Amino acid sequence: MARRRQIYEGKAKILYEGPEPGTLIQYFKDDATAFNAQKKGTISGKGVLNNRISEHIFTLLGHIGVPTHFIRRLNMREQLIRQVEIVPIEVVVRNVAAGSLSKRLGIEEGTQLPRTIVEYYYKDDALGDPLISEEHIACFGWASQEEMHDIADMAIRVNDFMSGLFAGIGIRLVDFKLEFGRIWENDFSRIILADEISPDGCRLWDRESGEKLDKDRFRRDLGGEVEAYQEVARRLGLLPEGIDNAVLDLEKHRKRRGK
Ligand code: UDP
Repeated sequence: MARRRQIYEGKAKILYEGPEPGTLIQYFKDDATAFNAQKKGTISGKGVLNNRISEHIFTLLGHIGVPTHFIRRLNMREQLIRQVEIVPIEVVVRNVAAGSLSKRLGIEEGTQLPRTIVEYYYKDDALGDPLISEEHIACFGWASQEEMHDIADMAIRVNDFMSGLFAGIGIRLVDFKLEFGRIWENDFSRIILADEISPDGCRLWDRESGEKLDKDRFRRDLGGEVEAYQEVARRLGLLPEGIDNAVLDLEKHRKRRGK
């Protein structure tokens, strides 16, 4: 079989040519980076969990009418997606002060924000993804006014939905990052949600203990990264309770049969 063509390799994912025109295969790696790739590592099993968590959230968002690039999961580490022209903007939505917001403005981490903040960063690793305003986006033509309207609208809808989803499983959705893409139909384009939604790009804190269940475990050398991601998947109902017992039972059964 011919090796499939790699289209792009990012920090946590690889994109391959898809089976049909206009599709791609998104492969989730175990690689983790932080601080603009100055810190690098691997979190064994992360890719499998992120593939599953992102599939779940994108599917639910599809159900409430948010258009996304997700088509279907193919296997443990891969999903079929629609090919998009990525808008070079990272959209960050914040409900609680943390990370760069706390650092930049001196607001204590954990402070509930009186209103949700949507921020934009220019996607450029060499520049360290600088914070930008809508003025910059319009001035440099990174997205049209109409596209920005759709992006802001979708970001708020995603936040409302995800805040409720996570609140229901005892998790505080502190902040998260989204990416959007353009798809072309004849001469018209529209904006859909792209990339992934996983603990790599969200801050998720346990409601009771405040424990971090996201990539800050890696960024801040807290350890227990994969266990945290697993806990998110488990609470979302993606790791059926008793699966460990089922595997153990199978092992016992095999041993009994001398295999
Ligand atoms: N984020 C991301 N990719 C980036 C930058 C930020 O996924 O390149 C996410 C991050 O995980 C957090 C939110 O966006 O959930 C806000 O990040 P922040 O601006 O506080 O930056 P950080 O402290 O991560 O540098």
